[in-house]
Amino acid sequence: MNIRLYNARILDLDASHTVRSGEVRVLDGKIAEVIYDGEIKPEDRIFDREIDCKGNLLMRGFNDAHTHSAMTFLRSLADDKPTPKWLEEDIFPHEAKLTDDDIADFQRLAIMEYVSGGIVSAMDMYLRPDVTAEVFANAGMRAVIVSGLNDFTSSLSELEVQYDRLNSCSPLISFKAGIHAEYTTSRDKLEKLSAFVHDKKTGIYCHASETESEVGGCIERYGLPPVKFLASLGLFDFGGGIYHGVHVTDEEIEILKEKEVYTVINSASNCKLASGIAPLKKLYDKGIKLAIGTDGPASNNCLDMFREMYLTAVLCKLREKDAACIDASVILDMAVKGGAGCMGLEDSGLISAGLPADIIMIDMNRPNMQPVNNIVKNLVYSGQTANIKMTMVSGRILYYNGEYDLGFDPEEVIGRCGERTNKIVSG
Ligand SMILES: [Zn+2]
Repeated sequence: MNIRLYNARILDLDASHTVRSGEVRVLDGKIAEVIYDGEIKPEDRIFDREIDCKGNLLMRGFNDAHTHSAMTFLRSLADDKPTPKWLEEDIFPHEAKLTDDDIADFQRLAIMEYVSGGIVSAMDMYLRPDVTAEVFANAGMRAVIVSGLNDFTSSLSELEVQYDRLNSCSPLISFKAGIHAEYTTSRDKLEKLSAFVHDKKTGIYCHASETESEVGGCIERYGLPPVKFLASLGLFDFGGGIYHGVHVTDEEIEILKEKEVYTVINSASNCKLASGIAPLKKLYDKGIKLAIGTDGPASNNCLDMFREMYLTAVLCKLREKDAACIDASVILDMAVKGGAGCMGLEDSGLISAGLPADIIMIDMNRPNMQPVNNIVKNLVYSGQTANIKMTMVSGRILYYNGEYDLGFDPEEVIGRCGERTNKIVSG
């Protein structure tokens, strides 16, 4: 597929967040050429599709660095409860009833939400990695599947098989080793995973330091907070990432730095579940690698990187009581480049020839994006998913002007998701 996107503003997430006018040409999944206004155009080609961007903005899409896509069925099912009660009474019992077909449809619903919100890739941890990988690949969306190893629903031998299989199943899919969390995984299993990680020289990803009670429990069990404990077993010897990181200690921040472990900030989830505000300013000042994730639709409840960016910025300012403590450009970089880096994807943030064509178009003609005093600040502080006009992954347009091209019928999926949810909830 040979696509020309012309008459565009083009945003590069370089040091100065440059915006230039021009056109982008896409061929076979990659950006083939970027021609800025005033430059001589190469000889004309025949394009399969030409899109007049009408001055709208092209940029690399958002990379959602932590989510549980198929949890869409739990959205608004049992909110406003204390977190342990919510998990034990509502989340775990309903998840136990899920079939593979349920997971596939609930994930398709999430994919519709991702692409209509400018999300081009997701780092997904859920119950059936094989199902998840297949659904993402068939829809044409990029994903990094993370194992949620724990003592109840998965085993290390399954993880080992998935590691090989899912890292070679599709150019859109990769797989990372991960545990759900320290508190759901026995020490014995963690030690065995560490041996695997050292054998493969790969990082691990997990929920860590999300709540005070989780940290307290780990200290009670092992005398150490979670990041320090997991690092003591060698699990971060090849990097990786932690999700949430709300209650990390100064000593643990040093470990994150030394081991080059990403911290994925999940602001909406942390607010809704009253987990706390992550120490973003401290992490940023220490040079910790940072990304942003939506977390799952049960704890957020939407898969919206605009809302995450806004909350991440303003919560940082509120925590520090300093409106100047972080710039919108840092937050945008986290949502695009940081997420890609965390997931092991191309992470330059540039619209450049040779890079994967994971591009979104922002509608600059909607009132909330005008006037254009500063595009980056508009995106972070007033941007909305309604501003997404197009989402392209690997050169294929998955969403354009409100229409999906995901290899399934969106209305049918919405209908089936309602029926499946009713069955699970009433069963
Ligand atoms: Zn999570």
